[in-house]
Amino acid sequence: MSIDQPHRPTVAKIDLDNLAYNFHSVKKFVGEHVSYMAVVKADAYGHGAVECARRLERKGADWFAVALPEEGVELRDAGITKPILCFGGCWPGQEDTLLDRQITPAIFNIETARRFNEAARSRNVAANVHIKIDTGMGRVGVPWREAPLFAKELISLSNLSMQGLMTHFAAADNLSEKDFTNGQVEKFETIVAAFRDLGFSPEIIDLANSPGAVAHPNSLGNMVRLGGVLYGLGGDVLPAGIEKPDLKPVMSLATELTQIKRVAEGESLGYGRTFVTARDSIIGTIPIGYHDGFRRSLSNIGRVIVNGSFVPVVGRVSMDWTIIDLTDVPDAAVGDEVVVIGRQHGLNISAEDVAGLVGGLSYEVTCGISARVPRIFVSAK
Ligand SMILES: *Cc1c(COP(=O)(O)O)cnc(C)c1O
Repeated sequence: MSIDQPHRPTVAKIDLDNLAYNFHSVKKFVGEHVSYMAVVKADAYGHGAVECARRLERKGADWFAVALPEEGVELRDAGITKPILCFGGCWPGQEDTLLDRQITPAIFNIETARRFNEAARSRNVAANVHIKIDTGMGRVGVPWREAPLFAKELISLSNLSMQGLMTHFAAADNLSEKDFTNGQVEKFETIVAAFRDLGFSPEIIDLANSPGAVAHPNSLGNMVRLGGVLYGLGGDVLPAGIEKPDLKPVMSLATELTQIKRVAEGESLGYGRTFVTARDSIIGTIPIGYHDGFRRSLSNIGRVIVNGSFVPVVGRVSMDWTIIDLTDVPDAAVGDEVVVIGRQHGLNISAEDVAGLVGGLSYEVTCGISARVPRIFVSAK
């Protein structure tokens, strides 16, 4: 959606300086001895992949990661030149896109490896691939016990060049699962050795996501794959009670009061009449709803900030509108700013706070802010 046109006042502000700050802060914390892959899948967790990648590329990110080839193409179209890893590998028919645009697939099954090898062979090139090993996540990945056999099959695929070996942690955010995480590290190390014994020489060895990089220094390999911490979303994915890098939120979300009305005591508000005023009330409506990612489960429990006060959501959140109770903010006026995520007059609502209300994760909250909400990128630099 173009923000050059007059538009609805509901916007997500993306602070690119805070993104750069977080990158430096984590780098200082984790160290200069590893490479840094910036994970910008899912439109950079809702923050805008192109703008975030451009800034991070300038700040020295070594690699980018996306989930789908399409997301990699978007970065290439925008002029990103650093290597891009596609975590989702390559669906049938997408091999040429990856080769054309120099996007490297993470490969986790032999069928994809064969198809990609064929595509590379018909161009007479050796295509880089990273191999993903499942050491306990149980999602995609070559099961670690089968990895030595997989490696043997890979030898015959002579148009593939194994540039990287990776695995992914299931519970790096939970220190009571430390033994499990260490077990994943050990299994992975065994597999790296098995590949080396067969003559492979992967230059990139990576295991750690954000909680891995911050909380498990034994898991760094020579590259870390960072998503959440770059966007300042440390609050619910980094273990509590450990030393952490300082992080600043990157996304804030605000709108404006569209309508204000006086409603007598005893009137019901919104779909399903789930809220009935307990007093004569001043009721406001804001132009944000569940299509924008302000979830319906926030009905009657969410809150926003208006003129320096927390204000409750009343009644059901609907698709395009949300009703709030302004009775205790009598000076509120149509057009006043309403902060949904972010800071106003010293009060703050974080993505973690919103997630906590609905039993979710901060990542879900920022990812869930839909494309209908324009992103406004701000930077003093
Ligand atoms: C999403 C993802 C990451 C990034 O995880 P964060 O917790 O956001 O740092 C790293 N590695 C893989 C394989 C992923 O899918």
